[in-house]
Amino acid sequence: MEPLPEEAPPGAYGGSRLTTGFDIPDARAFAGRGDLATAEPEGDAGALDGEILQAIADQASWMTDLLADLVRAPTTLGNEESGQKVIEQALLDIGMDPVDVPLDADQLRAHPLAAPFDWDVSGKRNVVSTWAPDEGSGGRSLILNGHIDVVSPEPLGQWGADDPFGARREDEWMIGRGAADMKCGLAAILGAVKGLRSLGVVPGAPLTIESVVEEECSGNGTLQTVLAGYTADAAVIAEPFGAAITTSQVGVLWFSVRITGVPGHAAEGQHATNAIEKSLAVIGALRSLEADLNAVPPAPYDLFTHPINLNVGTISGGDWASTVPGECETGYRIAMYPHMSIEELKGRVEAAVTEATSDQPGAAEVRYNGFSSNGYEIADDHPLVTTLAHSFATQSGAPPALVSTTGTTDAAVLGNVASIPTVCFGPYAESAHGVGERVYLPSVMQTAQVLGLFVRDWCGLR
Ligand SMILES: [Zn+2]
Repeated sequence: MEPLPEEAPPGAYGGSRLTTGFDIPDARAFAGRGDLATAEPEGDAGALDGEILQAIADQASWMTDLLADLVRAPTTLGNEESGQKVIEQALLDIGMDPVDVPLDADQLRAHPLAAPFDWDVSGKRNVVSTWAPDEGSGGRSLILNGHIDVVSPEPLGQWGADDPFGARREDEWMIGRGAADMKCGLAAILGAVKGLRSLGVVPGAPLTIESVVEEECSGNGTLQTVLAGYTADAAVIAEPFGAAITTSQVGVLWFSVRITGVPGHAAEGQHATNAIEKSLAVIGALRSLEADLNAVPPAPYDLFTHPINLNVGTISGGDWASTVPGECETGYRIAMYPHMSIEELKGRVEAAVTEATSDQPGAAEVRYNGFSSNGYEIADDHPLVTTLAHSFATQSGAPPALVSTTGTTDAAVLGNVASIPTVCFGPYAESAHGVGERVYLPSVMQTAQVLGLFVRDWCGLR
């Protein structure tokens, strides 16, 4: 095991201080904010601290086994079902009723805030389960959400001897695609609820667990749960941002640019128009847009050196070394600040592409497919934030950091579409989407224990 880094919220993971593997500065640490107080829970909730922590600690090996089973399910886009079966069985193991929320392509496409998609979603389902009191007792309802889908482990060759879906243990870490992003969070959610249920208590308001598909490409999995009527007074997504509450995230847009050139013999290339080389001009124009967006970042993104990231994710063009390519398509992801709208960003993207191809009007076509997510922010002093901070401090002995992320999560759907106050809080992980992705297992337990206390503090227990 590598030595742990020195910086991170005090009290996390038994006194060591970790920064998250994501690009998240913790300059807004709760401890440094004299204007913020963690919120005491409503009612007589303090008595159960020790019992809750112990009941969840007792689930350690169950949670680790569950996480390994989840990592061994290769739930890339279109292959999510093997993981949902594991979740379904885990819910049955803890005495909860799993409910299918199938993706409905027509219903999604009819929703004005759905992300566009050209892939097949038939047969896909979210797995959802609600633990509710027999009758209302005035508590606040809660959604605990995590996504089952993972990104591809390619290029496989770079994993060396490691099977990306092998769930290999190395000391206190588990390694594998999805171990970090975010099957560790799902394991923590289920471990927390299993521990609470072992105490013979019930929440004071409905607690819903959601294992969703398509978080990595559209957000339409969580959107389908909203369309199915699932809602709550708050939501926590157990994304692996580590000992910190994420209160702000950027918006994200996926788009592709298809260039139509003029094919011809390479020997007479001066008479042809090379679609691959024209694509390079488009990439350059989009890099200029990215630079403009990063020039003067608004708070809290002024804490980052490079908050807005353009990614050239795919490229496809040409089919013969001696033929000038007549077509080339590039696929992109770009971010934007929460105050911008997707429509404004689309306008700037299209203007950049038009400018880069002004010598060949009509040669470029911009298409949107996948993420079309606005950014999302929740106030630092929202009761969800301060109550979760209290639960964190109860478990760890110190307040958490408040952070922003340069990526998107399903908080964009729950917060913007369903108007459910939402934060991310989850385990400590490294190399999400990369080679050797891994999660620090003690942080999975910490997440579960904090979530267990938070269910008590937010929903009430009886
Ligand atoms: Zn994630």
